[in-house]
Amino acid sequence: MRELDLKALNSEKKNAADVISYILEMMGPSNIALASSLSIEDQVLTHMILNINPKARIFFIDTGRHFQKTYDLMEETMQSYKFNYEVYAPENGDIEETVSRLGPNFFYDSVDSRKRCCEIRKVKPLKRVLGTVDGWICGLRRDQSPTRQDMKVFEWDNGNSIYKINPIVFWSEEDVWEYIKAHSIPYSNLYRNGFRSIGCQPCTRAVQPGEDVRSGRWWWEDPDKKECGLHLGTAHSIKY
Ligand code: SF4
Repeated sequence: MRELDLKALNSEKKNAADVISYILEMMGPSNIALASSLSIEDQVLTHMILNINPKARIFFIDTGRHFQKTYDLMEETMQSYKFNYEVYAPENGDIEETVSRLGPNFFYDSVDSRKRCCEIRKVKPLKRVLGTVDGWICGLRRDQSPTRQDMKVFEWDNGNSIYKINPIVFWSEEDVWEYIKAHSIPYSNLYRNGFRSIGCQPCTRAVQPGEDVRSGRWWWEDPDKKECGLHLGTAHSIKY
């Protein structure tokens, strides 16, 4: 794996497209992949990365519990940009054993149960794809949640031992919408119905004006602990 000087890179002022161009060039397109959940942020990055390299890797974790509208948007995006997602799914045995034992909605029972569901439906498939790359690109933004306030553009993901690149980490939600509209990028019409962050259907709801962007995700939990496990383990101090 080619070593990156994170401190130097984070002190440079690159725009998001330049960050993506740089990292594709540095790592090679087969060694880095964009994680897409079909959010507005990921749609922006999908547009950018495919403009730079139409063969760039973009993956989707199919938890089996997404909104139908998410699958519809996936289809529309594939047709618009003429590409295919790499799709990763949970292991059958994990789902069969857990749901047989605890029922289909066990994730509402406790934080531990919810984390177990995210572990088998999201984190384990994610580990499989991240085992094939030296870095991943994410659409995280600092103002999305209290857990994301310290994120930087170039990071070392300690949990996965690869680099993590957040090209739009300093963008506001308004910046994202401006880009979506300027480039006629397809997006989920759930956003027109009060949704501001979209994940699995049973764990996502619309939010009220003025509420935190991520308050509709696992709304029954403490906001300081609301991560699904996909974005834990990034050590901001490592390699700085
Ligand atoms: Fe399970 Fe909800 Fe996590 Fe999706 S978001 S994996 S349904 S707990």
